[in-house]
Amino acid sequence: MVFKDFKDGIKLSRLGMGNMRLPKKPGGGDGDIDYEKGQEIIDYAMAHGINYYDTAYVYHSGKSEEFVGAALRKYPRDSYYIATKYNINANPDYEDTFNTQLERLGVDRIDFYLLHAIGDNTVDKYLTNGCIEFFMQKKAEGKIKYLGFSEHCSPETLEKVASHHKWDFAQIQLNYFDWNYSSTKREYEILERHGIPIVVMESVRGGRLSSLTPDAEALLKNAHPDWSISSWAFRWLKRLGQVQLCLSGMTTIDQMIDNVNTYSDDYALTDEEEKLLFKACDMFHEQVKVPCTACRYCTDGCPAGINIPEVLKVYNAYKLDGPWALMGMRNIDSEGKPTDCIQCGACTVECPQSISVPEIMQELAEKMREMENR
Ligand code: SF4
Ligand code: SF4
Repeated sequence: MVFKDFKDGIKLSRLGMGNMRLPKKPGGGDGDIDYEKGQEIIDYAMAHGINYYDTAYVYHSGKSEEFVGAALRKYPRDSYYIATKYNINANPDYEDTFNTQLERLGVDRIDFYLLHAIGDNTVDKYLTNGCIEFFMQKKAEGKIKYLGFSEHCSPETLEKVASHHKWDFAQIQLNYFDWNYSSTKREYEILERHGIPIVVMESVRGGRLSSLTPDAEALLKNAHPDWSISSWAFRWLKRLGQVQLCLSGMTTIDQMIDNVNTYSDDYALTDEEEKLLFKACDMFHEQVKVPCTACRYCTDGCPAGINIPEVLKVYNAYKLDGPWALMGMRNIDSEGKPTDCIQCGACTVECPQSISVPEIMQELAEKMREMENR
């Protein structure tokens, strides 16, 4: 395992264990963690030098913290660092959250503590409800060692948060896909400018960057037949100097073995390899997305009143990130839903991109019905 200096003489492993995708018991719900398989993963991590374990109040329906505490209990307390988070939406009472977390984890201090998933709509509450002062007090008492935040917000909001306070670290979604297709690069530059060490989440985008389209994979395999597709994502992240460590939410021991192997050295992609990866990324992106330009030529003629471009945006997210992205359908301002589509085809006639909208509506309707009936 390779390590990087943090501060106060602390060295953190460059790979951290995320605990929001732990193995679950067959047929079980989100909270039914398979302790035996999970323990095997943690034991492998500890045996191979991983010393950073990230969890949160809400992960696995509140059961992740309990698991992390139990799985690490047999190891000396100073041989690992625990990171967990206060989520204002899950429990606004920061004092109650913090005490519950100490109890769940079975510890008397939390090494890395974060305000969880700051968004454009929660930022003001996080900055003004008194939680920061409370956590600073806990830091003074030694109950928290380092205070940071995680975010899913715009660069403008991030600038506001980064300027608010002298944070010890920040956790952001960072991977080569988002670097090219979202505001991640700007977010990285803001944190770099503020000198805030970055803990990376979604290094492989919830596993979506572990397998690409066949043509994109062939390009990478041709260059390095012995590298896994996931390892390209981590080797690219090693190029970024502001990154302290990368989290991976590992579900299987094989994922852990592969990632530990990637972090057995400090090798970062060369400029040529980065170019190749970005080319594969473009190929992947082209194939997963529906090329809607949001011109809205199709919307006036839709008898079902469906906000077609907005629905297609959610469809793209679903193809990229999996079924959970369909939750985005709830936030769309649309009279009709995919289930209201009558397959008239009026949209296809109008579409300059020749998108088969009725087929997509049908696929979405089926998927949404399936999810409702679960
Ligand atoms: S096929 Fe469906 S989405 Fe397209 S115009 Fe007709 S009702 Fe609307
Ligand atoms: S006409 Fe085609 S490209 Fe334009 S908004 Fe509708 S689906 Fe998208």
